Amino acid sequence: MKSNGEKSYPKVRNSVDVPREEWTGVPVPDSGILRDLVLAARNAIKENKKCSNAGRYFWELTGSVMRCGECGVAMGTNHITGRDARYYRCTRRYGRGVGACTMSKNFRAEKTEAAVWNFVSGVLKDPERLRAGLDEICLGSKLRRAAILKRKSGVGSSGSPK
Ligand SMILES: [Zn+2]
Repeated sequence: MKSNGEKSYPKVRNSVDVPREEWTGVPVPDSGILRDLVLAARNAIKENKKCSNAGRYFWELTGSVMRCGECGVAMGTNHITGRDARYYRCTRRYGRGVGACTMSKNFRAEKTEAAVWNFVSGVLKDPERLRAGLDEICLGSKLRRAAILKRKSGVGSSGSPK
């Protein structure tokens, strides 16, 4: 409702697809990531289902992305409809009561998401940092795999079978 009492309506924007012949190519800088690695990653997640409960939002940090700093469980969102405000809160404390976790703070979604996006986009814009992070992930994965193989083969296990 406008101040003069007139009824107001939300703006509606329509978009029309442009034919492919009229598309404009945009050069994309080399990320430094091998094409095979990208294709393998896409293939690995092609069956993934949407894991966030963000229906109305472009993205949010649920789906185990954001963790409680006190107990480590996934943070969930709390949408306060009347104020149209969103917060992240510890799901353990919310589900089991205040004695379950000491994290009493709720985090404003806009502020939290902006901070995370700044971090993520900073990494994406810095190929060296991105490569170092991926190397670290690959190294961690290799070490875990090696530890599993070592355990299964019995190499390094103490004591002898009886
Ligand atoms: Zn917690």
